[in-house]
Amino acid sequence: MINILDLTPEELKQKLKESGEKPFRADQILNWIYEGVFSFDDMKNLGEGTRALLKREFSVDVPEIIKLLKSVDGTRKGLLKLKDSHIIEAVLMKYEHGYSVCISTQVGCRMGCSFCASTKEGLIRNLTAGEMIGQILALQQVAGERISNLVLMGSGEPLDNFDEVARFLGMVSSPWGLAIGQRHITLSTCGIAPRIRDFADLDNQVTLAISLHQPTQAERQKLMPVAWQHDLTSLFEALRYYQTKTNRRISFEYALVDGVNDTPEAAQALRVLLRGLKCHVNLIPLNEIKDGLYKKPDLKKIEAFRARLESFNIPTTIRREMGSDIDAACGQLKRSFLDQGGDDVGGEDV
Ligand code: SF4
Repeated sequence: MINILDLTPEELKQKLKESGEKPFRADQILNWIYEGVFSFDDMKNLGEGTRALLKREFSVDVPEIIKLLKSVDGTRKGLLKLKDSHIIEAVLMKYEHGYSVCISTQVGCRMGCSFCASTKEGLIRNLTAGEMIGQILALQQVAGERISNLVLMGSGEPLDNFDEVARFLGMVSSPWGLAIGQRHITLSTCGIAPRIRDFADLDNQVTLAISLHQPTQAERQKLMPVAWQHDLTSLFEALRYYQTKTNRRISFEYALVDGVNDTPEAAQALRVLLRGLKCHVNLIPLNEIKDGLYKKPDLKKIEAFRARLESFNIPTTIRREMGSDIDAACGQLKRSFLDQGGDDVGGEDV
């Protein structure tokens, strides 16, 4: 079975032609799908023969939402079951300007960041572009309106699944698909320097966010094993290449951990590191994970750290903690679900 979500119109036309079907049907089929109709039987302008062929050879693999948790702030986190029964997470967030979805790019992750629940079992497999699109389609049905913003910040390291993610970014922003403008998409990476250069060479408008979290090499490699292979020097060389090539502002994600990276010395080190880069720092009060080593600083310390960075002319925001009551940090919900043998972790049954 071919998952139609993995195909561009041109590719679907070609496949239909090979099966003896008229290529123009591809546009009709994709129109239905991107309007939210996933069953071939409901695609009313297709003849019976076409529908029979589609059922024989194709599928529309929108993942099944097996659990949906709703936070007091309206954030919804879904546990989504893929066709091969692997489970991933995706999050739907409501902002004033519309809905945003955070998707996963891999089942599991091999990057080993010490604060992350998604990496506990390592990488299980990469997701295809169609499986990434499927997550958005599933949550768009929950939202009941168009998704306008997208972040690649769920489980998985997007640049470790480079080819499928690059393909996905092209597809999801195309007018025939979900038409999410590239400037409304953010890709977050832990910092695989050579892939950042490849990403710069794609010449797209997607925002790049770096999970930095520590401004010194010695401390960062304790927190994020990727830093052993791609140290801060090579990471920032790659970022300077990226900025020269794209002229895009870079976001730095900085999860504030009490007594670890919220000190005046850390702020000073950050100042030195970011010098000369057009950037923005997003402070994220740590979303504590079950059995995790780290704690979140209190509000006073968070504000003091922000004020210090701003005094260095580094634009800084504190990200509001969305969905912290529903395990919204990377991999946490899946973890609770698996820890309970796949039993109820609360929330809406769907
Ligand atoms: S934070 Fe991201 S890159 Fe790091 S282990 Fe978790 S999913 Fe992987």
